[in-house]
Amino acid sequence: MSDTAPGHPAGRPEPVPPVRLTEPAGSVQPAEAAESVRPAEPAGPVRPAEPVPPIRLAEPAGPDRDLAAMRLALAEAALAVAGGDVPIGAVVIGTDGTVLGRGHNIREAAADPTGHAEIVALRAAATAVGEWRLTGATLVVTLEPCTMCAGALVLARVDRLVYGAIDEKAGAVGSLWDVVRDRRLNHRPEVITGVAAPDCTALLDTFFAERRAPRRPHFGDR
Ligand SMILES: [Zn+2]
Repeated sequence: MSDTAPGHPAGRPEPVPPVRLTEPAGSVQPAEAAESVRPAEPAGPVRPAEPVPPIRLAEPAGPDRDLAAMRLALAEAALAVAGGDVPIGAVVIGTDGTVLGRGHNIREAAADPTGHAEIVALRAAATAVGEWRLTGATLVVTLEPCTMCAGALVLARVDRLVYGAIDEKAGAVGSLWDVVRDRRLNHRPEVITGVAAPDCTALLDTFFAERRAPRRPHFGDR
């Protein structure tokens, strides 16, 4: 058989013109738009996916390292205020003291009901290590985790939880519930409470006082 299809004149057929969509530019092609028209970073501290700088805490594992990590979490918490969020911060520390992830409350700033500090920090840590299991890691957070975050840290296989202030209204690590130490779960992290608790509480009290809350706030409403 010949290379040329029957009925065609000798030589190459006419090139087919490229298909062009009739929609105006920008109305379709969402993937391309997302790639090329990346919105500018919002002003302020919203940066859940930002790569974490390789900070390593000098203190050996133990109370001193927990306190140093809580200082980082408090600094993170302070960043939440610029976005209109309740100041709650969290860091995830590796077994060697490396800061794997950091995060603060971005619920208002990101319009994200799951934008709690712990979730942001856990996601950052998992991205940093390229693994959803954070075995051996310590999650350090300024306020007792809620049910969502307590569940998330168990699912992430975090081995230690360190928190500062108690959340009597919505806490899920000893106050209202004790999700992470439920004996029905296979994975039960060690829990250390009350680290730098006065500082953690003061940060929250100041935030709500400046918003002229009529009474002590319901931290569960963060
Ligand atoms: Zn939470």
